[in-house]
Amino acid sequence: MKKIQKIRGAHEINPSEAKNWSETTKKIISFFESYSYEEIRLPIIENTDLFLRSVGEETDIVNKEMFSFESKSGKSLSLRPEGTASCLRAAIEMGLTDLGPQRLYYHGPMYRYERPQKGRNREFYQLSIEAYGFKKFNIELEMIDLSYKLFSHLNLFEPILEINSLGSENSQKKFSDALKEYLLPLKDQLDLDSQRRLSSNTLRILDSKNPETQKLLKKGPKLSQFVETHSLEKFEELKDKISKKNIPFLINENLVRGLDYYNDVVYEWKSNQLGSQNTFCAGGRYDSLSKKLGGRDISAAGFSIGLDRLMLAIPDDSFKTSRKKIMIIILEDSFYSFGANLADKLRSQFQELSVRYDGLESNLKAQLKKLIKESYDFVIILGKEEIKNKLLSFKDLTKSENQVSLSEQEIFKILETNLKDE
Ligand code: ATP
Ligand code: MG
Repeated sequence: MKKIQKIRGAHEINPSEAKNWSETTKKIISFFESYSYEEIRLPIIENTDLFLRSVGEETDIVNKEMFSFESKSGKSLSLRPEGTASCLRAAIEMGLTDLGPQRLYYHGPMYRYERPQKGRNREFYQLSIEAYGFKKFNIELEMIDLSYKLFSHLNLFEPILEINSLGSENSQKKFSDALKEYLLPLKDQLDLDSQRRLSSNTLRILDSKNPETQKLLKKGPKLSQFVETHSLEKFEELKDKISKKNIPFLINENLVRGLDYYNDVVYEWKSNQLGSQNTFCAGGRYDSLSKKLGGRDISAAGFSIGLDRLMLAIPDDSFKTSRKKIMIIILEDSFYSFGANLADKLRSQFQELSVRYDGLESNLKAQLKKLIKESYDFVIILGKEEIKNKLLSFKDLTKSENQVSLSEQEIFKILETNLKDE
């Protein structure tokens, strides 16, 4: 029969990589929690309306990339393309935004109908933090500082921080109109994506990677000319504080985000290791989102780490070697209870050991060879003689020594010294 394959762009990780993913996720969560962020769990399916109102109807995400479908009762639902809107919706609904400042984190899969390529999937994983009710720029400073320390801790290869200030919704609108007016007569010289964005999502043209489009943009109006003075002052203050913390950064005047809700400071973390999908973390401030979702006027900021890309930027040798592995083989089914008991004792004494308990596959010699290939460290073989004499056959598979007959206590002692060395 024809094999069934995974859906294009779906997120799937094999066991040897999944270990590294889990280890990285744990490290990141531990960092978030050390800054007093608390976990919130959010649904994967939401009303489509949530994303129309937040991310924006004319953005690529909502326009082209959403997995939307009709529910049985005829409502439009969508798989979440991002978590910021869901998180704030939930915080408003749970009443958290009435309780004073909040620091929240969540992680999980997001869904966007994009062309799958290295670092870009249709189902991808994000780890994010969001903070509500902090009026000053200090919260961005804390977030940038947290991310800087986190990425150093993860051993990332030269992460680069780029920042920009978008100003208010109003200044973004004024700039967008001016940019449209400037580019309309030049439409034919723009790349196709930018031509499409000209009428709907003009700001995002700044994001174009096309060199001809970038050349035209250089001669056009600049976003910073439209940003209000108080936003510029806050931006200067933030830059100064980031410098004082010795965090290197670049100012990227063309940095705009693909989501409508941002204002003032936006930033991205990039890595040259990643090829063209080089942004592995992105965030900023979004003070108008709460009101758009029917909540109170509340300030908000956050960032999302794209784990699929982050994993590509972590050097392989920064992962812990996996736990040591032992296998107990019984040569006859009637020894089942004896072996099970031994396995239980090993598991309770050595929690850092992986204990596998199974019967003989067919040929002992071949099975031992296979265990070495699967990087097992030790094996215990239980046959008639062993059980009668209470001397178990033990072999350290990492050494070329022969197997030896040892008492249970002797084996436990060897394992103890061995695991202590780690
Ligand atoms: P891009 O410009 O690369 O499409 P974006 O601006 O759409 O990114 P955000 O919505 O800000 O991305 O998402 C935050 C992070 O999530 C990105 O920086 C990236 O690391 C990750 N991300 C976004 N889309 C994808 C995807 N399709 N596959 C894998 N990771 C993604
Ligand atoms: Mg995108």
